[in-house]
Amino acid sequence: MKRVAIIGGGASGLFCAIICAREGWHVELFEQNDKCGKKILVSGNGRCNISNKNLSTKNYFGTNPEFVSHAIKNFGFEAFERFAASLGLLLEVKEDGRAYPLSNEAKSVVSLLLAHAKNLGVHIRTETKIAHAKELLEKYDALVIATGSEAASHLGGCGDGYAFAQEFGHTIIFTYPSLVQLHLNSKIAHKMSGAKLECEVSLLRNHAKERTCQGDILFTAYGISGFAVLDISRDASIALQNFEHVLLSLNLLPRFNRQSLAEHIQSVAKKAPDLSIFEMLQGLLPTKIALHFLEAHAIEVHATLRTLDTKLAKKIASLLQDWRFEVSDTHGFRHAEVSGGGVNTDEVDPKTYESKKQKNLYFCGEVLDIVGERGGYNFAFAWASAYAAAKAITARS
Ligand SMILES: Cc1cc2nc3c(=O)[nH]c(=O)nc-3n(C[C@H](O)[C@H](O)[C@H](O)COP(=O)(O)OP(=O)(O)OC[C@H]3O[C@@H](n4cnc5c(N)ncnc54)[C@H](O)[C@@H]3O)c2cc1C
Repeated sequence: MKRVAIIGGGASGLFCAIICAREGWHVELFEQNDKCGKKILVSGNGRCNISNKNLSTKNYFGTNPEFVSHAIKNFGFEAFERFAASLGLLLEVKEDGRAYPLSNEAKSVVSLLLAHAKNLGVHIRTETKIAHAKELLEKYDALVIATGSEAASHLGGCGDGYAFAQEFGHTIIFTYPSLVQLHLNSKIAHKMSGAKLECEVSLLRNHAKERTCQGDILFTAYGISGFAVLDISRDASIALQNFEHVLLSLNLLPRFNRQSLAEHIQSVAKKAPDLSIFEMLQGLLPTKIALHFLEAHAIEVHATLRTLDTKLAKKIASLLQDWRFEVSDTHGFRHAEVSGGGVNTDEVDPKTYESKKQKNLYFCGEVLDIVGERGGYNFAFAWASAYAAAKAITARS
């Protein structure tokens, strides 16, 4: 019986193990943690955004994002959905394309993957940290590196896979935290800790606007979090690595254009001249944000709207739609959901996921220089790359 060793019992390693075992291979899976699938368990806030119906190469980044194209065409959403159903795992697809397990629980995904692996005879060796890959390859017919990235070190995130790849002469594209919170160089931002808002966030790299994302933001003790921030964090992280000047511009009230916002402020001033500017802002923003917005821009909190002229109304409107904060850092790999960079995809066959440098050596998942957007795309790549590797391994005589 042919034997494959898999390093890493996360999403891609477990999936690869099941497919290889189904095809009759003897599978040994090595996992350093006391249990497999720790990142799956916490994913999607415990619900696991397992894939996305609208998969495309546009949802991926890396030195060569086209690398994912064969895997996601060959094992796209429908194929994954059918495969998951064959494991007894049914999915629910939301209107925007995000897919979740019907159970709405990440732990059901791990339970089912483990149950199938066990029933198919996969030998899972937990609490086994592999130190060198070369000697493992000598003992097996194939070796799969499914060690993930450095993101979320408390869940097993580490750079071991890069060192394994280097043992075989692979190059590593610089890694950076992505889908991660950002640190702001602003005392005012820290004072707003706990305040949430749905707004528009733009990233400025060396003063040039790069990207805008819409969604929740949350001020924290170190800076800023929330979905819109996670979505923009990849570009911020790369810019910081390049020592660029990185700013976030917040549009606190994107439902208005600047003119209509100034007109709204003036109309409230006309109707209720005895309200303070702060009270007027409370009608538009969370109290903490309204208060510190005025403090940040040296606008008198208690001044009544009676004192507000057109110039000040326009200035307030303009600042509300372009409040800038300097980004000093990311919150680091420890808190990142994923990592960009990794094993150079030019050195891996995009159809088989076999190394171009070493026969019988395969890679799948986040260890590769591919990172997806938020929305189930990272798991989608883990499944599709694991499928490609497993099919290529088991197709060999
Ligand atoms: C908080 C959080 C939420 C997330 N939510 C989502 C989501 O909802 N949707 C989505 O698509 N993605 C999500 N992700 C990203 C997703 O979890 C990863 O992209 C995915 O798990 C990558 O799969 P992988 O198999 O490549 O790596 P991993 O799942 O990280 O598995 C790698 C495994 O290898 C093990 N390992 C590493 N080195 C060694 C060694 N030397 N010896 C033995 N074992 C080793 C690790 O312990 C780990 O278990 C989330 C991530 C986090 C941290």
